[in-house]
Amino acid sequence: MSQISENELKRISDKNMERFYDYLRLESVSAQGRQIKQTAEAVQALIENTGGESKVLKLEGAHPVVYGFFEAGPTGDSEKTLLFYDHYDVQPEDPLDEWRTEPFEPTVKEGILYARGVSDNKANLMARINAIEAYKNTEGGLPVNVKFFVEGEEEIGSPHVDDYLKTYADLFAADVCIWEAGSKDSDERLGISAGIKGIAYYEARVTSADIDMHSSLAAIADNSAWRLVQALASMRNVKNEITVDGFYDMMTPPTELEKKVLAEMPFDPDASKQNYGLKHSLITDQLTYSPEEALVFYPTLTISGLLSGYTGLGTKTILPRQALAKIDVRLVPGYEPDKVTKLLREHLDKNGFEDVELELLTSVMPFRTNLEDSFVKTVIDSAKKVYGEDKVVLEPNSAGTGPMYGFGKYLNVPILGSGTEWVKSGAHAPNENIRLSDFYQGVEHMVVLLESYKDS
Ligand SMILES: [Zn+2]
Repeated sequence: MSQISENELKRISDKNMERFYDYLRLESVSAQGRQIKQTAEAVQALIENTGGESKVLKLEGAHPVVYGFFEAGPTGDSEKTLLFYDHYDVQPEDPLDEWRTEPFEPTVKEGILYARGVSDNKANLMARINAIEAYKNTEGGLPVNVKFFVEGEEEIGSPHVDDYLKTYADLFAADVCIWEAGSKDSDERLGISAGIKGIAYYEARVTSADIDMHSSLAAIADNSAWRLVQALASMRNVKNEITVDGFYDMMTPPTELEKKVLAEMPFDPDASKQNYGLKHSLITDQLTYSPEEALVFYPTLTISGLLSGYTGLGTKTILPRQALAKIDVRLVPGYEPDKVTKLLREHLDKNGFEDVELELLTSVMPFRTNLEDSFVKTVIDSAKKVYGEDKVVLEPNSAGTGPMYGFGKYLNVPILGSGTEWVKSGAHAPNENIRLSDFYQGVEHMVVLLESYKDS
């Protein structure tokens, strides 16, 4: 493997544990605007103290983004620049009473490090910094140029990432990008994602009267709850197919290579059923495509919440004046939020639901790296060297969402994720954690990757 031994990497990580803990102690909860400025400055100091250049960038109304730069060493390839994407913000820590340790007081128990934000995604930033530090003491220095884009709004939907990228496209110019995260599954295989799904999130509302009414009036007055559920029901049939005209036509068909990669992805339908205690069979049992294809290649249309009328104790006979639903549409390549909005609106109008208001609350574009790009192989091969030949799984895109699209659009880079999480990391949940053994491996992967990228 690399010129830096495993022992040396462990020594560097252990030596720097206290600075890692200090980073975890910062309560950088973006949703509540807590300690955002301090944390951005702490990231800047972390980069500068490791020998890099750094700037805290600020756009009006946005949390700062931290820029970092480390130059390739004397024998490195200074023509190549790798960009790391990370975020310094974290989710709120509640429910507090479910934590077994203090969320912002990092605590190690039996090789597991607990703290809010440790898995998502403070450990990954620290693993990358440790890897860079390991190269500082070598004769050759850093194998390639490294940049950092560390934002503070990931946990609130990254509303300003594209503005920052547009404004600072030259500053962040790079050839390839490593994304914030990657997790081991229940069989200890590291998942490496080459993309994400996008999202279009809506609120749908029906208002049928000025006031709630005595339900005897249901004999003559329309009911907002009925209107809304009928409108929603018209969008999906009992076989779970989305019945909005043109909905599936937007999809960019997966390439042969993407299909081949998907076929190699492990998937255990029984484990999914067990993990979540599913009471029904998988909905893909009735569809023409597999659960793996559904997770990676297909869009979803989900009722995320419903609210109307009386739902308290006992009975209250009213006819609700208003009904509301939250709808979450996960997008795959080919889908654009505005086109989805147009189709949903047309569907409602065509089916007599002109009175159903539909408002797009937030949206993120989908992104998938071209799997033919040689960087894909570089990342996968370097991971196999560290994690083992059969312990690395490439997925064309994850089933989740993140702000990758702007990086593809403004920087034109292939993007792959790698990280130090494991199946029980509990991101966003109480008792969030990582295993220290995964952290050391994560540092090692970054070391091997930087060298492999230089040689590729
Ligand atoms: Zn998160």
